[in-house]
Amino acid sequence: MVGRKICDCEVNILQFTLSSPRRQESICHPERSRGIPFVFMLSKFISLIKDILFPVYCISCGNEGEWWCDKCLTKEKLTGVTTFLAVKAVDGLTAFFNYDKCVAGAKLIKQFKYNFAGDIKIVWDKLVTKYGDKVLPTELKRGEWTIIPVPLYPRRQRERGFNQAEVLSEILLDFFTMQGIQHKYDKSSLKRNRNTIQQVKLSGEDRRKNLAGAFVWQGSTPAPAKVILVDDVFTTGTTMQSCAEILKQSGTQVVWGVTLAKD
Ligand SMILES: [Zn+2]
Repeated sequence: MVGRKICDCEVNILQFTLSSPRRQESICHPERSRGIPFVFMLSKFISLIKDILFPVYCISCGNEGEWWCDKCLTKEKLTGVTTFLAVKAVDGLTAFFNYDKCVAGAKLIKQFKYNFAGDIKIVWDKLVTKYGDKVLPTELKRGEWTIIPVPLYPRRQRERGFNQAEVLSEILLDFFTMQGIQHKYDKSSLKRNRNTIQQVKLSGEDRRKNLAGAFVWQGSTPAPAKVILVDDVFTTGTTMQSCAEILKQSGTQVVWGVTLAKD
């Protein structure tokens, strides 16, 4: 920082953020300050204002700055939960953590259910980068898999503005690509063709009835041979089973579920 010439935009931002050393650190570096498009500066400025108005605190230790700080995320020492469900349409399931045993993760899933689309990507990306190697079974790193998110009903997705399963799918795809593994990604062939009552409000057989005929495969057939089906939480598994049944009826041979948490 010493002796460098800063641009006018930076001066404005620095004046705006003089009260916070943390925010000053996040201001662009000199090599990036030349020719920065206005839109980029504007988005940086908006994000600074968002930081000031809605500061973020770590879900575990309460320190300001991140939803789940490095120190707390590392302390969790997640090893994942992998189970085989061979008798049903979902052949196996891997979750990054157990819903009951990882309080911070469970709180964040709830927190992110309806809000903070941009922040979700940052937090779950950190989780997958840190623990993906340990948690994801070797099986998923061999051969060609297609990553498919459990879809939301289009109207519900428009209302929420995002689908957490889609965000997680894209993070997983990036993780595999970084490892040199070329999996495919398909977020448009598996559809939810009617709005269903939220599964948490139902129990047992009602969950199955609620989802009967709710999913449909609209992609080319046969559907991909090996599918990594992605959702945020695996509770009774009814949603994943319903999706997996449709996939298998359409030609898929193996369905492996990956979720953040297993209830
Ligand atoms: Zn923390």
